[in-house]
Amino acid sequence: MRNAKIRLYVDQPLGQGQSVPLGGDQAHYLFSVMRLGLGDVVLVFDGHSGEWRATVAEAGKKRGILTVEEQTRPQQNPPDLWLLFAPIKKARTDFIVEKAAEMGAARICPVQTEFTNSERIRQDRLQAHAVEAAEQCGGTYVPEVTALQRLDALLNTWPDDRQILFCDEALAGPSLALISLAKNDSSGPWAILIGPEGGFSDAERQRLAALPQAHAISLGPRILRADTAAVAALTLWQQTFGDWR
Ligand code: SAH
Repeated sequence: MRNAKIRLYVDQPLGQGQSVPLGGDQAHYLFSVMRLGLGDVVLVFDGHSGEWRATVAEAGKKRGILTVEEQTRPQQNPPDLWLLFAPIKKARTDFIVEKAAEMGAARICPVQTEFTNSERIRQDRLQAHAVEAAEQCGGTYVPEVTALQRLDALLNTWPDDRQILFCDEALAGPSLALISLAKNDSSGPWAILIGPEGGFSDAERQRLAALPQAHAISLGPRILRADTAAVAALTLWQQTFGDWR
């Protein structure tokens, strides 16, 4: 286990020589589950200052301390892309958050639309999924999962400079090439909008059609489930405008 590549997100600013106290869950994971001991190496990141190599300085059942040694990777932030999605069933919502974090969304925003079934979300649990995804995928950034907001309220105060890739199932059919949007100034902030199982209402469609920042697109000829649609849209966007280029 000495050289195991365990990556851990820690909620404190990191720097050389720093001590990082570990709480019960992290101590349990490192010392009981992964069986690390004194002197073993862990990679840590705080979401802002890159990845650091740390060694175990104290290992207890319920607590422990890591000492930060040196930076192993610089901070890498994703492009300024938000994922707006309507929460669906628990496991599929978890999937959307995990995939969005892996695929490089900067912020994950659950939105309540007219046909959204689930009225509540566990924001803390979804945030924990985003952290876990960042730990697993080698990321140094953890996207914030925001509280559930109403889509109409969000659109009322929508920033002028943030474009919206509005994935509209009513357009299912031949793809409207995303690349044509690239002629606009595509370098600024963006958001992807994915609807619930019930799709968007006519009122929502009209509201979005009236918003100059919104660009409605098709994700191909078949109707995708919302979780599939989220991954497909993130792929398209990253490939066209994002950090996959
Ligand atoms: N009940 C709806 C489908 C909703 S699918 C119906 O049968 O019409 C869930 C979400 O995934 C949609 O709101 C949309 O954002 C996205 N989506 C699924 N398939 C799509 C497609 N072919 N084109 C664009 N968006 C799609």
